[in-house]
Amino acid sequence: MKNTENTILISGAGIGGLAAALGAAEAGQEVTVFERAPEFGEVGAGIQLAANGVAVLKRFGLLERISEFAVFPKRLVLKDAFTGEELTALDLEGEYQEKYGAPYLVLHRSDLHSVILEACKKNPLINLYTDNEIISAEETAEGVVITNQRGEKIKGKAVIGADGIRSNIRKNFSDDEPVNSAYVAYRGTLPISEVSDDTDVDDVIMWIGPNLHVVQYPVRRGELYNQVVVFKSPTWTPESTVWGTPEELDQVFEGCYSKVEKALTFINKEFKWPMYDRDPIENWTEGNITLLGDAAHPMLQYLAQGGVQALEDSAKLADSLKVHGDNYEAAFKEYQDERIPRSAKVQTTARFWGEIIHAVDPVSIALRNDIFTKRPANDFSYTDWLHGGPAKK
Ligand SMILES: Cc1cc2nc3c(=O)[nH]c(=O)nc-3n(C[C@H](O)[C@H](O)[C@H](O)COP(=O)(O)OP(=O)(O)OC[C@H]3O[C@@H](n4cnc5c(N)ncnc54)[C@H](O)[C@@H]3O)c2cc1C
Repeated sequence: MKNTENTILISGAGIGGLAAALGAAEAGQEVTVFERAPEFGEVGAGIQLAANGVAVLKRFGLLERISEFAVFPKRLVLKDAFTGEELTALDLEGEYQEKYGAPYLVLHRSDLHSVILEACKKNPLINLYTDNEIISAEETAEGVVITNQRGEKIKGKAVIGADGIRSNIRKNFSDDEPVNSAYVAYRGTLPISEVSDDTDVDDVIMWIGPNLHVVQYPVRRGELYNQVVVFKSPTWTPESTVWGTPEELDQVFEGCYSKVEKALTFINKEFKWPMYDRDPIENWTEGNITLLGDAAHPMLQYLAQGGVQALEDSAKLADSLKVHGDNYEAAFKEYQDERIPRSAKVQTTARFWGEIIHAVDPVSIALRNDIFTKRPANDFSYTDWLHGGPAKK
């Protein structure tokens, strides 16, 4: 391993950690990234990136490369999972892009991760290591020190914990635990040739219903179709060990609209993702140690913003490092002062949006659908605060 003492140490090489490396390098800082897995990569299927995330990729010079893999959907459409009725839509073309300065795109997670990784590998300021699980980070008289799973002590100038929802570095700031939402996701991709002719492959489609939803969109230049099936387990309790099973999936989706039923037949039911988030915290920076991405603000995926917020973090981190140089304490403080209020709002809004789309009682559903069906597809009043990016100071 190269000498790390004059570098910023980043724990975690997910989308957040790698984007943070690019941001820090943009500010002229040398960085060392540590990933616990034996290989760099991403699990899961598709990812949606709204304009506020794509704007950061554009800033890092990656939009052209990303566009080789991405799909640019025409609309984001919400439909009733039981009647098939279109409830509302958001136009994602011309006006959206002009307004927010970047497109909305969808792509395979591994494509996004490889493009960012490729940029990191080409950057002489970024050093990357796998097979390094970072267990802890501490501030010492000689600077920051992180310890990996082999007990090796690694010195650096500052630490960014980008180690995901079960972050070890977060323990420096909070003893909180991930919150189980009782929801579970099953997801995967299938060849687009297997999708029926009447599927609107130009759109991101979200089928919604009581305690459930399904998301569908094409990825990898339109060669694959991504599907995510999400539902609240009817049997989950804090003590449950078996919950959110494929049998429960069949049960909660019984009687759903024909296209949703078809989607379920293609879902790989072998692997499930229980859905966790955490409550926002008021501080994630101490001295020369800070957090970023899911380590800082894990959220439910209902606004499709977890990865996007990690990208926004990276852009702000770059800005703050440019202003404060090697004064990491000041840079991290400024970074968190901007990022905490915004990411906390996204975390809590994601939960709230989940309540809306998963509404169960008939009155809430009727009122929601009335609002949905009356709004035009070019009404951006609900997305301005989010897709428009952080407010400019
Ligand atoms: C079903 C689902 C759908 C989603 N859809 C979207 C979407 O459409 N749009 C969107 O923007 N977001 C979406 N998200 C959220 C998004 O996936 C996350 O917010 C994003 O991956 C966070 O990136 P991260 O790098 O902060 O964390 P992670 O992706 O969790 O990456 C953390 C990395 O750190 C590594 N690591 C962990 N612990 C250690 C350690 N101790 N030492 C070293 N390395 C470590 C991990 O192996 C991993 O590589 C979705 C999430 C789910 C579950």
